[in-house]
Amino acid sequence: MQTIKNYINGELLEPIGKTYIDNYNPSNGKVYSLIPDSDERDVELATEAALKAFPIWSITPKGERSRILLKIADLITANLDRLAIAESIDNGKPIALAKMIDIPRAASNFHFYATGILHYSANSHSMEDTAINYTLRSPVGVAGCISPWNLPLYLFTWKIAPALASGNCVVAKPSEITPMTAYLLSELCIEAGLPKGVLNIVHGYGHKVGAAISAHPKIPLISFTGGTKTGAEIARVAAPMFKKLSLELGGKNPNIIFADCDYEHMLKTTLNSSFSNQGQICLCGSRIFVERSLYEKFKTDFVTLVKKMKVGNPADKESRLGAVVSKPHMEKVLSYIELAKQEGGTVLCGGNQVKLDGELADGYYIAPTVIEGLTYNCRTNQEEIFGPVVTIMPFDNEEEVLMYANSTQYGLASILWTENLTRAHRIANNLHTGIVWINCWLLRDLRTPFGGVKSSGVGREGGFEAFDFFTEPKNVCIKLK
Ligand code: NAD
Repeated sequence: MQTIKNYINGELLEPIGKTYIDNYNPSNGKVYSLIPDSDERDVELATEAALKAFPIWSITPKGERSRILLKIADLITANLDRLAIAESIDNGKPIALAKMIDIPRAASNFHFYATGILHYSANSHSMEDTAINYTLRSPVGVAGCISPWNLPLYLFTWKIAPALASGNCVVAKPSEITPMTAYLLSELCIEAGLPKGVLNIVHGYGHKVGAAISAHPKIPLISFTGGTKTGAEIARVAAPMFKKLSLELGGKNPNIIFADCDYEHMLKTTLNSSFSNQGQICLCGSRIFVERSLYEKFKTDFVTLVKKMKVGNPADKESRLGAVVSKPHMEKVLSYIELAKQEGGTVLCGGNQVKLDGELADGYYIAPTVIEGLTYNCRTNQEEIFGPVVTIMPFDNEEEVLMYANSTQYGLASILWTENLTRAHRIANNLHTGIVWINCWLLRDLRTPFGGVKSSGVGREGGFEAFDFFTEPKNVCIKLK
């Protein structure tokens, strides 16, 4: 059985406490590797290594930092198959998805920020003949990066790459539910020649390792992606210490469909935006609102297609959905389906655990589920389920659907389908979300600001916004006479 190690000061180390956590393969419910059960002592070691590396890394020329990070990007690409298989075994997602999205995107994250830093510049402000101000942007120090299980390497690298490119050293913690590709990344960082201590990866539970990072007095910046409740806990600890905080949290995204949409395109994309990665993408559209004149047609066609989506072995190319990430998560999703029934919902398809044969009999599979007949403000339509479950609901006009869409505590992303240009812009302007996709979904330009409003988070990732976050501005004012 493979034993994962921490990556501290350039070395692969056992946790100081020498204890491990079982790592499950969601496709068959069996333990297949061991994760370090690290604690604050390992975080301390990692922070010391990062602090020691910082003075040199922070003044290493950008071109040199860029060269090393590009090498990591190349190594991720060279190991595409191996990493995609590892991601699939660890997370339950179809290998095909990991190969097409997760791993290429992890390489792109490094590539994007390794080259982006070469173009990042700060402002100057002239006061005519009186004075000139210029702004310096310096790396902050040791950055704490904490990431979730749904897009493991993709989201881990989305934080680490800009932090490192802008000259910070990092203490990072991947999710204890999906640690494998972060471990494989540590091997690739060693191969790429990343100097010792620049990146440190400490594995283990959130309440031990994550909490120790959030509370560490020498880690002045925390970039976190995960659940809203955890984000609130991190803010509770870190805010009174005046840490810089970026929080990318949960969502309950609306998918608004008008009758004048490009129907076939909408239908195909809505299957993906509902069920990709078993619905475990923070950007999935889980509340589908359909203009009443199109509702019955959409319902019939959508349910017909959803019933055809194959739930199966993640290694099988035919599988559209693999396993959900863990047994507790499967139970949580199934409990929401029960709640939906109690709230008066009708399950149009799915609604059950799927039992596969043989080796996969104990895997965590759920049939893609479509529910109708619920009110916009019931718990099922207000709380994040984060699984292969969507609700559908008719609406009569723009005001009504905007009220439905904006009614939750969340505000991460929204999806809008219409061929009416002015309506598209009008609604986009009135949606309370950080991201609006019109006639598309998950179309990502890494230069754009990424993040949510309300309980979906604080701050933005992406593009130069990430460099702004991972650097501290200092204004220098020079009097000219
Ligand atoms: P989670 O909050 O349970 O865990 C996320 C990370 O935080 C893990 O590494 C975990 O170990 C760690 N953690 C847990 N408790 C901690 C604590 N007290 N202090 C510090 N760290 C702690 O989230 P999850 O279940 O891994 O991920 C699913 C959630 O992430 C969903 O809510 C989803 O919407 C959200 N998400 C958001 C985005 C986004 O960009 N907004 C992207 C992906 C996922």
